[in-house]
Amino acid sequence: MVRAIVMGGAGRMGGRIITLITSADGIELVGAVEQKGHTMVGQDVGEQLGLGKLGVPIDDDISKCIDKGDVVIDFTHHDVIVGHLEIAARHNKAMVIGTTGATAEEVARVKEVAKTTQCVMAPNMSVGVNVMFKVLDYVAGILGDDFDVEIVEAHHNLKKDAPSGTAVKMAQIIADTLGRDLDKNGVYGRKGMIGARTKEEIGVQTVRAGDIVGEHTVMFGGIGERLEFIHRAHSRDNFAKGAIRAAQWIVNQKNGFYDMQDVLGLRDS
Ligand code: NAD
Repeated sequence: MVRAIVMGGAGRMGGRIITLITSADGIELVGAVEQKGHTMVGQDVGEQLGLGKLGVPIDDDISKCIDKGDVVIDFTHHDVIVGHLEIAARHNKAMVIGTTGATAEEVARVKEVAKTTQCVMAPNMSVGVNVMFKVLDYVAGILGDDFDVEIVEAHHNLKKDAPSGTAVKMAQIIADTLGRDLDKNGVYGRKGMIGARTKEEIGVQTVRAGDIVGEHTVMFGGIGERLEFIHRAHSRDNFAKGAIRAAQWIVNQKNGFYDMQDVLGLRDS
């Protein structure tokens, strides 16, 4: 039985992860953590989520429950993930980071600390999206420079970071396959007399509206035809299930930094 601690337990993702853990095999909830001052701190997390009493209080400091768990699942805010991972590593606990929006420095630090514990970090934990990552690599390699690449992502109106971590990852995969530098060739929104599109551009457009859970369209636009690959998340449960799968997988791995391609066995050997 894998014992899990959920950071951001009162959040949209944290709540779904906790709810699905209570009905999953082989994993149990032993801790839930929220930020200091949150109204739910001190309450039973099950009662707060309408699941009935679980006997797990919502703590306001990971240090209060870290020793009870095997793995920490974090869907919080990018500026706190390194601190959470450092505490997990000090206590020899594994970590699953789903939080997006991390800066390059934060990702570099996560990779450094992951040398001393087991860590999965992925901007999108859905199985479908991770299969799409593989497909995009394959398709971009075949189409090469003859097709214009445009990515459109849409999310709910409360999402804080833009473009989505998933859209950035898709753009990075395609840039790597095509031998382009995303820092130079990424174009994030367009307006005005911008001139003709360059061949090298990888366009990334952001839509924020209503309660859209998450949609990603990748278009390869050619002359006389185009290909579009679309992933639509119907609910947050696909991400939550992926995070739970990652938590059950990571506890049996060696120390190091992994992503969902590793969890799902999709990485090229
Ligand atoms: P949310 O705002 O609903 O929840 C975040 C929760 O984290 C809040 O309840 C907040 O109080 C809590 N929090 C903040 N700082 C904390 C701290 N120091 N300690 C403990 N709790 C803390 O947001 P959300 O929609 O649940 O998304 C959370 C993150 O997960 C975002 O970065 C989002 O982009 C990402 N996300 C990732 C995936 C994926 O598959 N990887 C899927 C959906 C969302």
